Amino acid sequence: MNERILQKRLKRLGIAVAVISAAILAAGSLASFYLRNILGEALTGQMKSDADQYRTNILRQMDADLQTLDTLGSLLQYGDAESLIRRFGQTKGHNDFEQISFYGSSGTEAAVALPDESVRTVIEEAWKGNSGVSRIYQEDGSGRNIFTYAVPVCPEGAVEGVLTASVSTDVFLDILQDDTILGRTGYVHLISDSGKVLVRSSNRIVSEDLDTIYDNGYILPEEKEEISRAMAEGEVCLSSFTYEGSTYQVLLEPVSVNGWYLFCVQTMQGASRSVYDLMTNMRLISGGILLLILVIIAYGYRLIRRGNRELIRNTYYDPLTGAYNRRRFEYEIGPLIKKSCEYSIAALNVRQFKFINEIFGSRAADELLCHIRKVIAENVRAWEYYCRSSEDLFYLFLRDTDRTAIRERIKKIIDGAAACRFGGRGDYEILMYCGVVIGSELAEEDPDVQKSMTHVRFALDTARTSLKNNIWFYDTELHETEILENYIETHMNQALENREFKMFLQPKVDLQTGAVGGAEALVRWVPDTGNMIRPDQFIPVFEKNGFCSSLDMYMAEQACGQIRRWIDAGLCPVPISVNQSRLLFYETDYIDRMRELLDRYRIPGHMITLEILEGLAAENAGVLNEKILRLKELGLRISMDDFGSGYSSLNTLAGLKIDELKFDRDFLLRLDDKEVDRSRQLVIMNEIVELTKKLNIRTVAEGVETKEHEELIRSFGCGYGQGYYYGRPVSAEVFSEKYLGQKSA
Ligand code: C2E
Ligand code: CA
Ligand code: CA
Repeated sequence: MNERILQKRLKRLGIAVAVISAAILAAGSLASFYLRNILGEALTGQMKSDADQYRTNILRQMDADLQTLDTLGSLLQYGDAESLIRRFGQTKGHNDFEQISFYGSSGTEAAVALPDESVRTVIEEAWKGNSGVSRIYQEDGSGRNIFTYAVPVCPEGAVEGVLTASVSTDVFLDILQDDTILGRTGYVHLISDSGKVLVRSSNRIVSEDLDTIYDNGYILPEEKEEISRAMAEGEVCLSSFTYEGSTYQVLLEPVSVNGWYLFCVQTMQGASRSVYDLMTNMRLISGGILLLILVIIAYGYRLIRRGNRELIRNTYYDPLTGAYNRRRFEYEIGPLIKKSCEYSIAALNVRQFKFINEIFGSRAADELLCHIRKVIAENVRAWEYYCRSSEDLFYLFLRDTDRTAIRERIKKIIDGAAACRFGGRGDYEILMYCGVVIGSELAEEDPDVQKSMTHVRFALDTARTSLKNNIWFYDTELHETEILENYIETHMNQALENREFKMFLQPKVDLQTGAVGGAEALVRWVPDTGNMIRPDQFIPVFEKNGFCSSLDMYMAEQACGQIRRWIDAGLCPVPISVNQSRLLFYETDYIDRMRELLDRYRIPGHMITLEILEGLAAENAGVLNEKILRLKELGLRISMDDFGSGYSSLNTLAGLKIDELKFDRDFLLRLDDKEVDRSRQLVIMNEIVELTKKLNIRTVAEGVETKEHEELIRSFGCGYGQGYYYGRPVSAEVFSEKYLGQKSA
């Protein structure tokens, strides 16, 4: 799993959490809304039935008053109207009537003169035979709100007069203030259909004296519009008004008399306080639970997020420096390498980091690593990456492919690292080395991170061993050599056991007689795969790892064995020269082992010549001479190989008890070279030959390739010649046939 997937998951989780929270919130508010609606509906229903009751009571009151008046009217035929009314008036206290008047046909005019038009209208209607109730108007003089009932008086069937009675609106007030109906949680006003307040209950909420319900803007304009419309149509209307921050529900119920309306206000949001309280508590509790759930979810989410972050940090980041780790680095650069070869990878390492750790302590070393990370971070550009792989190993992925540019950038980093005064130490200079692989130089068919990382490690190893160059670029050829060396080292022991090392022989020709006077044993490695490995490929490796000693002893044994086979075959054997490595020569049991070989194969010592390298003489001539003398006691011959290739002087040559001197191939090569002073070269060779003659040392010239070479070496008295001109190294069988067969014949 990679970081992006983790991030994606986290994002998805975040969205899920948000959605779930939103869903819970929505469900909560929906439930709350639903409950409120149910409760609201219940309350509205309650209000409606309450309002109905008020209305019925008012209508009942008016019916009863009209009936009383009607009865009074029917009594008028039995007496004088005026005295009857007076007497009835005296019963005040048993009825609500303030002022009773009779309008006979004679009193019509008086009625017409009445100030209130509405009263006149109801009287006119009564003349037509219909009882009625006038609008509410102000009484002359007292200014009280009153209204008038009017009933027709028709003793014989025809209307003969009208009886009226004025009543104070207080009769309605008593009804409206009956607070048992709204359960003491509301009040009722009587209003006109234009919104004018006619009878105002004292149980009100709004303290000001308002002329109409619309005054002071407690009812919002849109509500007002709706109310006016409903009242114009005579419909029931549900509305609300806001007073001192609280909103109250209002029901407008038509009384169906004179356009009167009951303005019922619910002061509490419920008919029953307990239900309301329960509702409030439930909402509080569910709100609390919801909040708790949200907090738990948020906490869980935070935990997961933190866990994920930690996971990402541990999986993809180096805990010490905070840089990417190698895994993340490879993950990032993998696709880039596949896409284009325009990149380079550098591996940076601190020289002797282990010592830094040991001498200055791990804290100081950690400080250094963090500093290096900082320097690297400052030097990488957009779309470039870096990581700390392990200990002091940093990798960089750069977009540069030009060696000079890369070198400059790396140098800047190395210099930046050197500036670190870690652990408060200013006296220790930090040295870094670096291996670089350039993508465009690889030309690999299938570019791959792992391969590139291996190459860069190889370049880094080379940089480590190089003293002069601390930035090393990966070289394909160099790498192949490394691969071969690796093969050599891992297969050499097995190869020796499997007898994969073969002895080839190259003839040494006596220049005076032209006969083959000896042979040099040259090793050939023929692995099972059949691809022969040349000695210049594996001998240097063996010299380094010490395996040369085993190989040389093996070759010496092969040579002894071959001589023995020649003798046994009745052939005249030629001495064989074997190459001896420096290490072998210094081994303490070397001489014993040589003796043991000669004994085992029962051959005289002079049949074996040991070729030692010129460099040995330069090291310690005394020890060398002593060894030479002891070997010579066994009859062995000693030859100095590659003379002239190194440091030996004629002086050292004079001091050595050797039997043979082999001129390095270089002598002849230099004679071929037109640039070199040929005559000077000839003088030197001549001098050497003269000296060897005096010292009784025979000379062999190596690398004789042409007739001209032969003539040349013969001209200054060289004893033997060895080279392709006479014959290439061949297998022992071929050699025996080709050279010894002839001889024996
Ligand atoms: P070397 O001892 O100087 O051997 C002579 C090398 O010169 C041989 O190369 C031989 O094949 C080559 N050579 C001979 N004549 C000519 C010529 O006319 N022209 C040219 N160009 N080359 C010629 P080879 O066999 O490849 O061996 C290379 C070196 O490997 C040897 O140089 C020797 O130093 C080392 N070597 C070979 N066999 C052994 C061994 O068994 N033990 C040790 N220690 N070293 C060995
Ligand atoms: Ca040799
Ligand atoms: Ca040689």
